[in-house]
Amino acid sequence: MKLYNNKNKSEIVSFKEALFKGAAGGGGLYVPVKIPLLSDEFWKGLNNTSFNDICFEISSQFLSDEIPSEDLRTIINNSINFDAPLISLTAKIKILELFHGPTLAFKDFGARFMAEVFEYFKKEENKETYILVATSGDTGSAVANAFFKKTGIKVILLYPSGKISNLQEKQFTTLGENITALEIEGTFDDCQSLVKKAFIDKEITDVKNLSSANSINIGRLLPQTFYYFRAIQQLKEISENLKITVPSGNLGNLTAGLIAKKMGLPVNEFISATNINSVFADFLSSGNLAPRKSVITLSNAMDVGNPNNYSRITEIFDNSFEKISNILTGYSIDDEKTLSTISKIYNKYDYILDPHGAVGFAAMEKDNNISMNIILETAHPAKFNETIKKAVGKNIELPHMIKEIIYKEKKSIRLKNNFEDFKSYLLNI
Ligand SMILES: *Cc1c(COP(=O)(O)O)cnc(C)c1O
Repeated sequence: MKLYNNKNKSEIVSFKEALFKGAAGGGGLYVPVKIPLLSDEFWKGLNNTSFNDICFEISSQFLSDEIPSEDLRTIINNSINFDAPLISLTAKIKILELFHGPTLAFKDFGARFMAEVFEYFKKEENKETYILVATSGDTGSAVANAFFKKTGIKVILLYPSGKISNLQEKQFTTLGENITALEIEGTFDDCQSLVKKAFIDKEITDVKNLSSANSINIGRLLPQTFYYFRAIQQLKEISENLKITVPSGNLGNLTAGLIAKKMGLPVNEFISATNINSVFADFLSSGNLAPRKSVITLSNAMDVGNPNNYSRITEIFDNSFEKISNILTGYSIDDEKTLSTISKIYNKYDYILDPHGAVGFAAMEKDNNISMNIILETAHPAKFNETIKKAVGKNIELPHMIKEIIYKEKKSIRLKNNFEDFKSYLLNI
């Protein structure tokens, strides 16, 4: 697979290079030179294919020149070992549940696939790699769980002390082994800025192999296309007018859907659902992207003021706003509507949406038409029990695996929000 840097089109790299580098130079992103169109055979055979076979077919389209098919099979089997079931609320409204992975959010798809390919390519080298991740919650647990016990890779997570939920904290501070959690006396932005400084500090990069795992990494983006095809497979009949609603923050999930559409996914339109951090929804109505500081909402994984996959989307559509607005609409949903939607859907269909999925559902309703709709449900509602209790008057059970975590011992290293302390920590491990 070849990718180019959208800020410097003569820079062409392989998948492996893009995977290890993460971001391209000059603030650019790596974009596939070519997005392959799936064959008629793929679509004809789809109904008799397992989810793993779908993942294999899609990833082969991109990676067959860099990973032999037997190895790719192993990578898929090890990483995508949970399903994405499609639930029917009505004949026309379907929910694609993306939370059946180990950390109960769709980020498991991207993080687990990325960790497998990372370890696969690492086998050729023997220098240890340190993955630095600043996290405000969900990304940290998905990445930590995905890279747990991977050979030759150490994960260092920075998180703001006292600013994430107990459950989120336990999900990455109780693993041990190659996962270290640094509890920073500061905010999420402080954590992010420490990580950024480390990447450009020559004294550190001279002696340590650093890498990142954030949502612009192509290794996380590619596997997010898989479940769009799984959704279509479960639809039974293909509708002439299908819309897919994607709860959106940094737009990784939506970008993957748009790539799937270019590969031939039979969908008419995507709806991008944002909370009141509506920078992208505003762009879709005005044609003008105006980043701003994010504010805290109930759907906190989408509290993004400057969505980092934005320029990948415009690039895929040849930077034409007309082409983008032909298949993309955006709506912004506030917390009040999020709560009332959770409550309404529970009463009407006996189904509990998480706050992110509820933003999606409310956006789909705003779109106000009679097409066939699939809404992506990006997290398990039990992760947001405080909100769920407010909306439906009761808590829901956490899946067994996660419940155990609460009783495990937290292990973290406390650091001041001070780059010299962080640097000396890195130089001495
Ligand atoms: C990260 C996340 C999102 C936003 O996804 P993007 O790819 O950043 O747009 C939505 N919902 C949940 C639960 C998430 O963790």
